[in-house]
Amino acid sequence: MSGATYREVQVKGALNAVKGMPFEWSLNPFLGCVHACSYCFARAYHARYRERNVGTDFDRDIEVRVNIADVLRHELRQPREGSLAIGTATDPYQPIEGKYRLTRRCLEALVERPLSTSIITKGPLIVRDIDVLSELDRRADLTIYFSVPCVDEDVVRRTDPGTAPARQRLRALARLREAGLDAAVLCMPVLPGISDSEESLDRAARAASEAGATAFRHRPLKIDAEIRDYYFEFLAREFPTLVPRYSALYAGGNHPGRDYERELEQRVARVSRRYEFRERPRRAREPDARARQLELRM
Ligand code: SF4
Repeated sequence: MSGATYREVQVKGALNAVKGMPFEWSLNPFLGCVHACSYCFARAYHARYRERNVGTDFDRDIEVRVNIADVLRHELRQPREGSLAIGTATDPYQPIEGKYRLTRRCLEALVERPLSTSIITKGPLIVRDIDVLSELDRRADLTIYFSVPCVDEDVVRRTDPGTAPARQRLRALARLREAGLDAAVLCMPVLPGISDSEESLDRAARAASEAGATAFRHRPLKIDAEIRDYYFEFLAREFPTLVPRYSALYAGGNHPGRDYERELEQRVARVSRRYEFRERPRRAREPDARARQLELRM
């Protein structure tokens, strides 16, 4: 992406142990993300753990972890319990992945030593890897989550300025579903006053269902302390009339308050009931390569 700097770095570790999440391991082939979503929670990590700014340091100065697949392959020699999430702090299919193929090479390592895996992305580039994703899916539980918080393109251009249009993401999701993969939509974060109307949520749910999404999940915006000023500056620039409403909604902290959350839950439940989202049935897994080798030796 023009205007971004890419720095090649070597990492010592690939898998990060995670606590308090629905997965035990995370993996991020890049650090920073040119998709530049205004609300991105990973901006806060950039400030908290790296002492970098939450703006251009995050979305214009990208660390490319060039040896991550080799390190992962080495780490996977030791059996791991639990599941892995790829893309928790960056998009693993942001455009630079087209050149470096780091996410693809990590998936190839996982095919050799399978772990239950989920991938979170806004990048249609993922369809390039349908072959390796299908291989992994035969050996382990695999779910791909497409982040599509809103399908109203005038909103998306302002909130997610570096991403592919939402409909293009959903066309990619449809390709994954045609290939038999489990692909769901995360309608997250829902932005108060911007993408939280019943009409907007209905358009998102309908488009997700039409693309064949296996689930449609939502979560309201959380504003971490580190990104509060950044997000409010974005609001003042793009949606100035909403500033007082956000000040009131988020007066108590990072979350919009229980009343708002409850009302949003009901709204999403109403629109979700109008459309079909069918979970993919669980499938028998192929034994992994190590198990096959052991069988052959016996
Ligand atoms: S695509 Fe994900 S990681 Fe990248 S900026 Fe947007 S929310 Fe953050």
